[in-house]
Amino acid sequence: MNFFQTLVRIIYPDLCFACRELVAPNEVLCLPCLATIKPIASRLFPLRGRKELHVHALGAYCDALHKLVTAKFRRSLPAAQATGRLMAKLLPEELFDVDYIVPVPLHWWRYANRGYNQAAEIAKGMSQELGIPYRSLLMRRRFTKFQYLLSRDERQKNVADVFSLRPDTGDIKPGIRILLVDDLCTTGVTLQAAANTLDALKPASIAAAVCARALS
Ligand SMILES: [Zn+2]
Repeated sequence: MNFFQTLVRIIYPDLCFACRELVAPNEVLCLPCLATIKPIASRLFPLRGRKELHVHALGAYCDALHKLVTAKFRRSLPAAQATGRLMAKLLPEELFDVDYIVPVPLHWWRYANRGYNQAAEIAKGMSQELGIPYRSLLMRRRFTKFQYLLSRDERQKNVADVFSLRPDTGDIKPGIRILLVDDLCTTGVTLQAAANTLDALKPASIAAAVCARALS
């Protein structure tokens, strides 16, 4: 670390997103906060055509992960990428036997509002850590209301057919293995809608990885 970098580090040190203690450069959580993350089993969500989607999470939506995920409201792009690297280190290795890491897209309106797509930045962090290509395969067709304001039934209506394949996916051959990435999984309907849309590419497999999953 040169003098300038040291100075920047003193003025803008990396802090734990959960407890604000100092952490090693480019880390997002300190060791005590990391220790509070409780690993949880993957959860299965039904897809069309009697298929299923395994959703793997770093942990339950505990305090530390909650603070990390809501960092998006503070426009923290490095935190999102560091979260992706953390997921790459901590999630089961067999999950990463895939051809592409694919983010759940954000609607352009919210993209403009926030400046970046947190799921995409998490996916890029994972891609860099694992050396697996990042590829955006989906786009949102229309505006969806904020999911957390809606009931489960309303959520399902809100996201049904909300995604479509990007026009530049013509080169994708059948049989690819996809890892779909999002920041959070609450009811699973967003990931289900995304996976149902990706199924049109005739992939060999689709699994999902998220930072935190709400236990319900
Ligand atoms: Zn901490």
